[in-house]
Amino acid sequence: MHIGAHLSISKGLPQTIKMAERISANTFQYFARNPRGGSRRDIGDVELREWHELKQQSSLDGGMVHIPYTVNLATPKEGLWEFAQKVLFEDLERAEAIGSPWLVTHPGSHLGEGTDKGIDRIVRATDMVLNRLPNRNTWVLFETMAGQGSEIGGDFKHLKEIIDLLGNPERIGVCLDTCHIFAAGYDIRTKEALDKTLEEFAELVGLEYLRAIHLNDSKFGLGERKDRHALIGDGHVGMSGISHVVNHPLLKDLPFFLETPVEKYEEYGEEVAKVLAVREEG
Ligand SMILES: [Zn+2]
Ligand SMILES: [Zn+2]
Repeated sequence: MHIGAHLSISKGLPQTIKMAERISANTFQYFARNPRGGSRRDIGDVELREWHELKQQSSLDGGMVHIPYTVNLATPKEGLWEFAQKVLFEDLERAEAIGSPWLVTHPGSHLGEGTDKGIDRIVRATDMVLNRLPNRNTWVLFETMAGQGSEIGGDFKHLKEIIDLLGNPERIGVCLDTCHIFAAGYDIRTKEALDKTLEEFAELVGLEYLRAIHLNDSKFGLGERKDRHALIGDGHVGMSGISHVVNHPLLKDLPFFLETPVEKYEEYGEEVAKVLAVREEG
């Protein structure tokens, strides 16, 4: 199984290999910069070289970059919109250098301007960035959201609209967050409910775009549109819902990333163990 968790790279990329081993993960997600702001730590050539060397001898892959939550590709505020483009460009460049196969971003919030205008901004911002990186290896994934406030991506249709409008749609996909879609009203608690949700995804977006899963339980109930992650099995999705997700034939081979509220990263070891306990191999 392809499973990992959100880890910090603040102690250096080579350190993430030990961290991943400790929690029995073979992939990971990370912020390429400070998640609250714009600043980023320098990653020098020495660190990169050591990382690539050590990674080759380990079972860890190149991981997934998460764009900071504060970055809003849909914002109507010009200065912030330009800043979002700069961050997307720099993080994507960094993902390429680190060898990460995926980068994930929240689509953004329209802040009262309406979904269509927000999607137009997301598309233009993304196109401008992708046009500057023509030989990209890293996939850019848009995340399904809970639909809080003016958030775009709480409806599967939004993701399809973004993909269809992009002038540069290659290596573009979707990261499905189990907490978010549940909070947005897509039920996944039973096999039947999950089948129906995936049918809707197939119809509205297309399964070929589904590239990664954020595996989280939810502190809030179905359709409450509140984005609060819970520990695996501790929320409204529950252990049986998680089990349906990780064993579903359409999902089981995708990379799964945990973003559950642990106090320190070592506790992800227990989260991974809970998932592996319900995973049916074969
Ligand atoms: Zn997520
Ligand atoms: Zn979330």
